[in-house]
Order: sequence, then C-alpha cells, then structure tokens
Amino acid sequence: MDCLGFQCASDSFIAQQVRVDRLQQLFLQSVYAAGGSYMGAVMLCWLCWDRFEHGAVAWWLSLLTVSTLLRVAMFVAYFRGPKHERTPQRWEFTYWFTLVLSAGVWGIGALAVMPANDLLAQALVMLFTVGMSVAAVSCYSAYRRMTLVSMALVLLPCTVWLLFQSSVMQVGMALSVLVFASFVVSATRKLSDALEQAFRLTREMERAHSISTHAAQTDELTGLKNRRAFFEGAQQLYSDCRRTQRSLCALMLDMDHFKHINDTHGHQVGDEVLRQIGVVIAASFRAADLHGRLGGEEFAVLLPDTSMEVALSIAEQLVQTIAQLKNEPVHSMTASLGVALMQPDDKDLYHLMNRADKALYGAKARGRNRIAVAE
Ligand code: GH3
Ligand code: MG
Ligand code: MG
Repeated sequence: MDCLGFQCASDSFIAQQVRVDRLQQLFLQSVYAAGGSYMGAVMLCWLCWDRFEHGAVAWWLSLLTVSTLLRVAMFVAYFRGPKHERTPQRWEFTYWFTLVLSAGVWGIGALAVMPANDLLAQALVMLFTVGMSVAAVSCYSAYRRMTLVSMALVLLPCTVWLLFQSSVMQVGMALSVLVFASFVVSATRKLSDALEQAFRLTREMERAHSISTHAAQTDELTGLKNRRAFFEGAQQLYSDCRRTQRSLCALMLDMDHFKHINDTHGHQVGDEVLRQIGVVIAASFRAADLHGRLGGEEFAVLLPDTSMEVALSIAEQLVQTIAQLKNEPVHSMTASLGVALMQPDDKDLYHLMNRADKALYGAKARGRNRIAVAE
C-alpha cells in the first residue's frame, strides 16, 4: 500500500522499536531458562540413574554444561552491555545459535539416554520433554519461531522414535505428546501476536504523545517555543536563577513597522519574514538560553548567567543581523529590542519581562532599529 514518506518512515521506526522491545522481552523472559533446562536434565538423570546408561548420561550432561555456559555468557554480555547495543541485528543470531544448540543437545541427548526397553524410563523422559516444551512457551513467546523450533528440537527426537516402535503403549504415548504439542503450538501464535500488538500499541501511543506534546509547545510558523511553552520554561529558569543567585537577562524583540510589510506585500510575505526571524533567533543563542514567539511579531529571550554587558552585545548583533536580512520582495526590515537584567527587587518573572517590554517601547519611541536598556 502507498504511504506518505514521513508516515512510512514513522511506521518503519515503530517496527524497529517493536523488534527491540521483543528482543528485550525475550532476554528478560528467558533469563532463567538456561539453568532451568540444565536442572531438568540433571533431575531426570538422577531419577533414572539406575535405568540410564551412565556413559550416555556423562556425554549428555557434559554437552549440556557447555551449551548452558554459552547461554549464560550471552545473557551476561547482553545485560552488561550498553542499552543502545541491545539491537536485534546484534543479538538475534547469537540467541538463535545458543538456543538451537542447547535445545538440540537436550532433545538428542534425551533420546540417547532413553533406554530402548524400559517403558517407565521412557514415560519419565517424555514427561520431562513435554515439561521442557511447555516451559519454552513461557520463555520464548516474544519470538514464536524460537518457541516452535525449541519445542520441536526437544520433543521430536524421542517422540518420533517412540512413534515407530512396535508397542501400542509407546505409539500411544508419542501420539498423545503430538496432540498435546499441537494445542501448545496454536496457543503460541495467539500469545506472540498479542505481545507484538501490545508492544506496537505502546510505541504508537508514545509517539502520538510526543508529537502532540511538541505541537502544543511549538509555534507553527517559526518552529520556536510558543507563548505557553516559553513562559513555562521561563518560570523555571527565573526560579533557578533566583535560588542559585545567578544573573538573568531578558530580551524583548518586536519587528518595526511590521504592519507596513503586511500591507505592502501581503500577509504571506509577512509570514515568510517571521519564519526567517525565527531561524535567526534559533541560531543566535546558546542551548541554555530560552527563546520563544510571544505572539504576532514579538519574541522574547532569557539569557541565564549573562551580564548586561554581554546581553547588550548579543542584542546589538541580533539587531544588525535582522537589519541586513532580505526576503524578496522585502528589502529592508528592522527590529527593536528591550533588555533588562534581573534585579533583587524584581517581584517575579513578569516584573522582569515588563521592564524589558517598557525598554522595548523606549527603543520604538527613540526611532526603532535599536536597543534600549531597562531602568
Ligand atoms: P511597530 O514598529 O510600532 O511595532 O509597528 P508594527 O506595525 O510592527 O506594530 P503593530 O503591533 O501595530 O503591528 C503588528 C502587525 O503584525 C499587525 C499584524 O497584522 C501583524 N501580525 C501579527 N501576527 C502576524 C502573523 O502571524 N503573520 C503576519 N504576516 N503578520 C502578523
Ligand atoms: Mg511591531
Ligand atoms: Mg507588536
């Protein structure tokens, strides 16, 4: 199906996040699986010690020790490694490799230790293989294929062998295991689908939330913070600077004769000019500074840890940059600026901003395209 470019990019981003979530779920769910399957084998051998051939048991447990240690090393590397490296590209293959190795060793080993003429021992082995395959559902449900492959590797060697024996009991046992496994297989599909759906919905909700939060805080025309977001940040910055006794300067900027630009060239050209001013403002300040469009052609900036001297030189630079801008068909545009330094007797943020605003109107009164300092 066709999709808009950004929509496709967003869908594939979410699909990638869902893969990362599934991988994380896989590791978290199966962290005890390696030890559990090893203990299962030890338990089975202990129960059937007198019935199993000891050489086969030694081989089986040795190979299981190796495959279990490999899995443990993989878990340690995954959980100890940095989070950004926990990607499917990096870990899926390793996981598959250790899983196939350990499930394969388990299933073939169980067949190797199972005595050919001891029905009770065979029933016990089948009990453990069925238990192991049910445990696989709880461990690997984030990856359906892993669940199925590990179940098949553990169950099938003994089951297929039993299926081709002459005793009705043995064939019956194998058939019951297959019927039982078919129920489990169908349950794995529902479980993995539900998990994937839950991961996708969570990621989509996170994305929708971050888009709507960003939209609620951003001025659509200039991309700067809108009035509400500016004042939220400004309140915080003002309180921080007050508490830690750091200096804070406020700049208020208003475009000169902007109405004339609109009247002469049209509203769209006026919008284009405002967009350009937004770009200039975004590029003119440090990350620690806070700026926003308060409305119309008015902008405000707060500069923490900044003396009046430095704020004035920044403001001067800004006024000059704006005066040099051209935006066809507008050949000249200017702005006026009011600057205020936070004083001990400023009651609150609004007091400081009002002083900067008054200074701005002083700059307008003195002829525009200039800066005025608050008293
Ligand atoms: P002054 O030098 O005294 O500030 O004159 P001015 O014309 O800039 O001041 P005034 O406040 O009278 O006019 C501001 C104009 O800005 C009026 C309004 O139409 C225009 N304006 C406000 N918001 C927008 C906008 O989003 N887009 C455009 N194109 N114009 C806007
Ligand atoms: Mg104006
Ligand atoms: Mg104005």
